[in-house]
Amino acid sequence: MTPTELLDDLVAGRLPDARGRFGPWGGRFVPETLVPALERLEAGARAALADPAFRAALDDELAGWAGRPTPLTHAPGLSAAWGAEVWLKREDLAHTGAHKVNNALGQALLARRLGARQVIAETGAGQHGVASAAASARVGLPCRVYMGAVDVERQAPNVERMRRLGAEVVSVDSGDRTLRAAIDAALRAWVLDPEGTHYLLGSAVGPHPYPWLVRELQAVIGREARAQILVRRGRLPDAAIACVGGGSNAIGLFHGFLADGAVALIGVEAGGRGSGPGEHGATLAHGRAGVLHGSHSLLLQDAHGQVGETHSISAGLDYPGVGPEHAFLRDAGRARYVTADDGEALAALALCAAREGILPALETAHALVGAQRYAAAHPGALIVVGLSGRGDKDLPALAALGVGGAR
Ligand SMILES: *Cc1c(COP(=O)(O)O)cnc(C)c1O
Repeated sequence: MTPTELLDDLVAGRLPDARGRFGPWGGRFVPETLVPALERLEAGARAALADPAFRAALDDELAGWAGRPTPLTHAPGLSAAWGAEVWLKREDLAHTGAHKVNNALGQALLARRLGARQVIAETGAGQHGVASAAASARVGLPCRVYMGAVDVERQAPNVERMRRLGAEVVSVDSGDRTLRAAIDAALRAWVLDPEGTHYLLGSAVGPHPYPWLVRELQAVIGREARAQILVRRGRLPDAAIACVGGGSNAIGLFHGFLADGAVALIGVEAGGRGSGPGEHGATLAHGRAGVLHGSHSLLLQDAHGQVGETHSISAGLDYPGVGPEHAFLRDAGRARYVTADDGEALAALALCAAREGILPALETAHALVGAQRYAAAHPGALIVVGLSGRGDKDLPALAALGVGGAR
């Protein structure tokens, strides 16, 4: 089937298929010992998400604990600056400060329902670790978070937050001592106890069923945004734009508008400091097909097929892989992917802070650059931007970069 024919299947809810594939992308490339655990997780997740009682419990916690629905905020300052009409979907106002809590809460509730005795997670910058620690505490399960030794050092405040939320933080001293090594360590720990442990994966990546499960849990962003823009503006936006690291906040926003063919879906990757190897985190722009962390997707690789180095000012966008559904949406022509470099992201962050009184995360600033570009090409357009998280966590990084605030 052509990608366009398969797109109809995606819109109708038939993708991923039984093998966890979105066309050629996705699947399950893991050690034999993990297959039964992934099959149990898939069956359990499908049953839970189809169970009105589970849905009601999840919705209740999303509202009462996580603070949903998040507002859709008109941005008059950015609109005037860019010559468009910009609205911000405020995931920065969700509990723990980013969209990650939607997924962490959903999986923690699922883990409890499936009888897990403990939750494990991996984290890079620490945001997913904090969300996992908080959600695990909320559902009453112990939580262990694997984190590269380099990141433990760089992200000391988030390490402290996780510990205060009752999580055990394990510093990983192997491999590259950052996120990739942390994921490897979490997978190794899971192999040792696949029955009693729930692996709370943090983005729309990894082996099936994670890309599907994380998308289902993040789709609340797009569902709310679509309903909110219809109430406020009486029509659909011209474009929905989000930043893409692993791709979870973007896939969540996009799914609200997938069936609305006239709404342009635009993902923004980290262009870093250049397009050469190791200078960016733009997997859809520069990656080649390969397998990473159990999934067949696009992947930054060097000439020998080794996983490539990455760079971005935002720790959440420098993952060398990307969720398989984004590779599919690109092939099918339903979503477009662009890059924003470090300097552009910093300028957009400063403008949003100065004009809207909202300090976005460095990751989020990349989405704002995408909106600025879209506005330049489509004057007057109605644009919804996924404001994936707040920038408080980035204050040390901004200070280290020597970036001043607007006065
Ligand atoms: C982690 C993070 C991202 C990137 O992750 P996705 O899975 O691509 O959404 C983006 N924004 C914020 C604020 C984050 O914390």
